[in-house]
Amino acid sequence: MSVNTKHCLTCGHPLRGRIDKKFCDDNCRSIYNNKKYIHEKGFVKSVNHLLLHNRRILASYVDDNKETEKVPKALLHHRGFHFDYFTHTAVSKEGATYYCCYDHAYQVVSEQELQICKVAIMKDAALTIPDSEF
Ligand SMILES: [Zn+2]
Repeated sequence: MSVNTKHCLTCGHPLRGRIDKKFCDDNCRSIYNNKKYIHEKGFVKSVNHLLLHNRRILASYVDDNKETEKVPKALLHHRGFHFDYFTHTAVSKEGATYYCCYDHAYQVVSEQELQICKVAIMKDAALTIPDSEF
């Protein structure tokens, strides 16, 4: 029988036996997997929260009567918009990139200004799902 110097990922006890062993027993394995799941769930939850927050801000500028609106970028900053978080991007026929938060999007029109719109009105935009950034 081979003895290795690896330790249990949950309790840190030295592991004996199979070289690919990671835990003392099923109990330690289940504790580890539960912690991992809770951590992942927490991360997903906080990202979802930011995305919904962004969507709410974008949605506050447009409605059924006004489907698109020019807004100063600084105003979105001031309202706590997270520019790093969006669900996907869309590119119009003219080559403009839209950053989408679910069903709402914005386009950068200048250094100071954004054009906000609903994704539904971007009929000619080819939707692209961004690569995972996590
Ligand atoms: Zn253990």
